Amino acid sequence: MPCYSYAVDHSRRIGLLRRRLTRAGLTGLLVTHLPDLRYLSGFTGSSAALAVTRRAARLFTDGRYTTQAAEEVKAAQVQIVASSPAVAAVQWLAAQAGVTSAGFDATHVTVAELARWKQALPFKLRKAFLTELAAPLVEPLRNVKDEDELALISKAALTGCELFEHMLGFIRPGLRETEVAAELEYQARLKGAEGMSFETIVASGARSALPHGRATSARLPRRGFLTLDFGIILGGYCSDMTRTVYLGKPGTNERDTYQAVLEAQEAGVAAVGPNVRCGEVDEAARSVLRKVGLAEAFSHSTGHGVGLEIHESPRIGAGQTARLLTGMVVTIEPGVYLAGQFGIRIEDMVAVTRSGGQVLTPAPKALIEL
Ligand code: ZN
Ligand code: ZN
Repeated sequence: MPCYSYAVDHSRRIGLLRRRLTRAGLTGLLVTHLPDLRYLSGFTGSSAALAVTRRAARLFTDGRYTTQAAEEVKAAQVQIVASSPAVAAVQWLAAQAGVTSAGFDATHVTVAELARWKQALPFKLRKAFLTELAAPLVEPLRNVKDEDELALISKAALTGCELFEHMLGFIRPGLRETEVAAELEYQARLKGAEGMSFETIVASGARSALPHGRATSARLPRRGFLTLDFGIILGGYCSDMTRTVYLGKPGTNERDTYQAVLEAQEAGVAAVGPNVRCGEVDEAARSVLRKVGLAEAFSHSTGHGVGLEIHESPRIGAGQTARLLTGMVVTIEPGVYLAGQFGIRIEDMVAVTRSGGQVLTPAPKALIEL
């Protein structure tokens, strides 16, 4: 059985977080978003909260995870609680000397949860102790991948490419889209995937014009495009790639449109580099399609960050002023969707390196006819 565990220095990550905490003028932080929590502590369970102060870090979870937390969590103390881990974390933070406020990321908290946390505090702390973060603190750390993370993501991406190659020998007209998805997901598991990054997209014929066409019982046509967009999870990290192939012989319009998408995609990849604004990368891809009158048919942004989550910042979209940093991993995935006719999308994962963009998904992109 392949082993993808690796020794991560979580203490270092918590140290980096503390610096940000201090800069944000906070003395405490409550982390409840599970991918953030995993990143900081290594804990992979489904119920936990992490409290971080300038001096200590403590992970709260329930009795189902006693053994697992002891094994996984080295950089924080672990406390097993009988009720809500987040409530326990809030109460613990409030009881710490020198902790005058605790930040939380409102993006990942419901109104009901926040009310519950406040109720659990002493009356005088209910109003101001919990502080909504002006900007996320953990996410920017997660966006820049270290070498261990890059190795895992590359492995996941390359495994995705192997799966695509396998699927080329499997796909034939008459198969149901769900059968294509089933084969892909079965093979992914055999290759060690912990799961799929998201619901596999298999969109054939006119359905390929749906950017998010999940596999249905539709049968693959004798002639037409087939879009496969999928990803696997290895060691917690997601891969994400799209290839569009043609069943039968494409006509001139189909061939030309494919070529335009490919050129847009390659222009997007070529634009990736450190310090480049995300909006510039989007524009590099989008302008190619605009020149051939397909701007309207490209109805989404060019890409997104990938890591422990399938969609992370930064967003590679029109007008985005955030800059790419060395160590980020983003997708470049322009597409063209002509309702009732066909759709084409090509997606690679690209790591931002000091010298530019490094494609992590080297599966063939020239139009494949099956
Ligand atoms: Zn995708
Ligand atoms: Zn994607």
